[in-house]
Amino acid sequence: MDTPGIIINGGGVGGLTLALELHRLGIECEVYESVREIRPLGVGISILPHATRILTELDVVDAMLEKCLIATESLYYNRFGQFVYSEPIGAADGVPWPQLSIHRADLYDVLFAKATERLGEDRIHLGHRLSRFEQDDEGVTCFYDYTDATGLISPIEVRGSILIGSDGIHSVVRKQLNPTEGMPLYQGYNMFRGITYAKPFLSGSAMLRIGWYTSGKLTIYPCRQTDENGDQAMNWIAGIESDRHLERDWGRRGKLEDFADIYADWKFDFLDVPSIFENADTLLEYPMVDQEPIDRWTVGRVTLLGDAAHPMVPRGSNGAGQAILDCRSLAEALAGNADPIAAMHAYEEDRRLKTTAVVLKNRKEPTDVILREVCLRTGDKPFDQLDDVITQDEIEAITSSYKNTAGYSKAKLTA
Ligand SMILES: Cc1cc2nc3c(=O)[nH]c(=O)nc-3n(C[C@H](O)[C@H](O)[C@H](O)COP(=O)(O)OP(=O)(O)OC[C@H]3O[C@@H](n4cnc5c(N)ncnc54)[C@H](O)[C@@H]3O)c2cc1C
Repeated sequence: MDTPGIIINGGGVGGLTLALELHRLGIECEVYESVREIRPLGVGISILPHATRILTELDVVDAMLEKCLIATESLYYNRFGQFVYSEPIGAADGVPWPQLSIHRADLYDVLFAKATERLGEDRIHLGHRLSRFEQDDEGVTCFYDYTDATGLISPIEVRGSILIGSDGIHSVVRKQLNPTEGMPLYQGYNMFRGITYAKPFLSGSAMLRIGWYTSGKLTIYPCRQTDENGDQAMNWIAGIESDRHLERDWGRRGKLEDFADIYADWKFDFLDVPSIFENADTLLEYPMVDQEPIDRWTVGRVTLLGDAAHPMVPRGSNGAGQAILDCRSLAEALAGNADPIAAMHAYEEDRRLKTTAVVLKNRKEPTDVILREVCLRTGDKPFDQLDDVITQDEIEAITSSYKNTAGYSKAKLTA
């Protein structure tokens, strides 16, 4: 048996941010992470301003800025390269915190380094995969399979006062709390995601969305600073309406021949899309899936956080951000409440319905539905006059509705 304290199961973006938040408030915790070696997995992530605010207060943003880019504008085009809409984002829109475009590996490196430095290496336990837990009136016992440096696996029991399940989309904690929960729900779009090193396009800091899923949709933005060759790491996601989907796995390799044909004539004066795909450094495939929101996160001394609590489709740049917001809420509830169980309920009360709204909004009406409207109303043909297709007021209603739901409207951030 080990030390009783707060156990954070899963040392991903949410788990490490929570550890930093608890440390900031003087609360001790231990992080248990299944992987033994930290490898640069994944592609780009956007951190929206409300989450940047929390990371700024945790004093990690300066280290992130050594690697990442500040996004300055969001641009929308139809698949013929016709301009539809642009808006300034983050600090460029006058809010106090920027929107950051970062490679997931860089974000992870910064959080891991800061957590190790502040909590101490002995509080971050790698190679510990949770298989199950048991709880009683005094605490929680976690059963881990521990993999040592030689690859040998041995069982380890860890006792904690409470358990936070921040173990991502395949959460063992969520599964044990909700044994009858169904399979992930496929939302009809399959995604191919990649990183390509290429010369900057447009302003060099724009997030670009082009087209609609029925005939191909692309989101692309740079997520690392320009390298010595003058190239930026372009994070891109090509989505297609399709029945084809495989089990969700962040590391699943994708194949060019499964999607690139659809984009063969996407050669615009501002971006040559086929060459972005052909020169990809990383190419992954991921289905657009989420799970039905659940009606409780907290059972006894156990609660959920991040993707384990609210898996959502990656359409509104909100997965990491909402996990970071959870961390602030949970840490402050624990700091402000002598009873950790009451604190976890207060956290759930604060966050569950808000994140449920984001899960549902991402499913049906994230900001890219601007492009769905353009595609449907033009019959997926080029337009003569944009105003005849969609008005600026309609577009702004879509974007502001999403920002209000996800909690990063300008009014809220500047209040
Ligand atoms: C390998 C990987 C690649 C990703 N790539 C992208 C990407 O390219 N773009 C994007 O937008 N999002 C990506 N994500 C997801 C994104 O990081 C999360 O949506 C977001 O940051 C929410 O964070 P989270 O902490 O809830 O989950 P995650 O960041 O996924 O963290 C969960 C952690 O729990 C660990 N874990 C899982 N099971 C157990 C267990 N049984 N015991 C102990 N630990 C366990 C995992 O190893 C992981 O470190 C990726 C996640 C992972 C794990």
